[in-house]
Formats: sequence, structure tokens, C-alpha cells
Amino acid sequence: MESSTLFKCTRCGYCCQGETTVSLDDDDQRRMIAELDMTREEVARRFWRITGTVVQMKIADGHCIFYDNDSGCRVHEGRPWRCGQWPLHPSILEDESNFTAISESCPGIRKELGYDEFCRRLRHLLADQQKVIC
Ligand code: SF4
Ligand code: SF4
Repeated sequence: MESSTLFKCTRCGYCCQGETTVSLDDDDQRRMIAELDMTREEVARRFWRITGTVVQMKIADGHCIFYDNDSGCRVHEGRPWRCGQWPLHPSILEDESNFTAISESCPGIRKELGYDEFCRRLRHLLADQQKVIC
């Protein structure tokens, strides 16, 4: 099962807007450092907001610091896995209201499938892949 049967990104950029971002786990941090080809210290100073043990990306002009209005995500290959997972979040399976809320904020969701069929496909996808990357 391909994620494209559930979703096709329109690159609207909505999911990169706002005053908070996803948090980066250790693997995300390593991949981002490698993608940017900088030292950990430089990446942390320029791009990360660190609160205790929580590492998030900085916000600039109301969106993630890596978001560019013209080109989208400037760290696409090194983006956190939660960015790659969006909008196929497992919480969709728990409650139809999550499906409704996510499909209202993400125009790429194939909501015309309907909730039951969408869940059937998403379950298949999650069974195939431990971490869904869209
Ligand atoms: S909100 Fe959805 S369609 Fe828009 S950029 Fe994000 S993932 Fe793509
Ligand atoms: S890392 Fe990329 S995909 Fe994730 S919020 Fe920032 S700009 Fe968007």
C-alpha cells in the first residue's frame, strides 16, 4: 500500500506554519545535522529551540525556520520523521473527529474515500511500515 493512495501533498505549506513545531528525536537530530553538513553546535545555535531535553525547530515569521514560501521545506531530506508522517497520523484510526480535523487542515488528504475506507488503507500502510513517511 502506497501513501499516495491516501494522500498527495499539494505543497500548500499549512503544516509548516504556526508557533510550534514537532520535536526531534535523536535520529532526527543526527539526520538533520548530516543533511545540513554543519556541526551539531552550529545547527543547534541556528535552527533549534532547546527546552530541557526537548529539541524543536525555531520559528521565524510565524513558520518553521526551514520553510520557504517559494521552495517549501529547505531541509526536506533531513526533516524530522514526524514531518514526514504528516498527515497520516495514527490518531486518525482512533476517532473520526481526528480524520475530520486533519482533512480540514490538509488539502492533500483524499477525504473523498470516506472514513472507513481511509482507515482500512491506513491500517494496511501502518502494518507495512513502522514509520510511515509520506
Ligand atoms: S498541509 Fe498537507 S498538503 Fe499542505 S503542505 Fe502540509 S502535508 Fe502537504
Ligand atoms: S522541517 Fe520542513 S516539513 Fe518540517 S515543519 Fe519545517 S519546513 Fe515543514
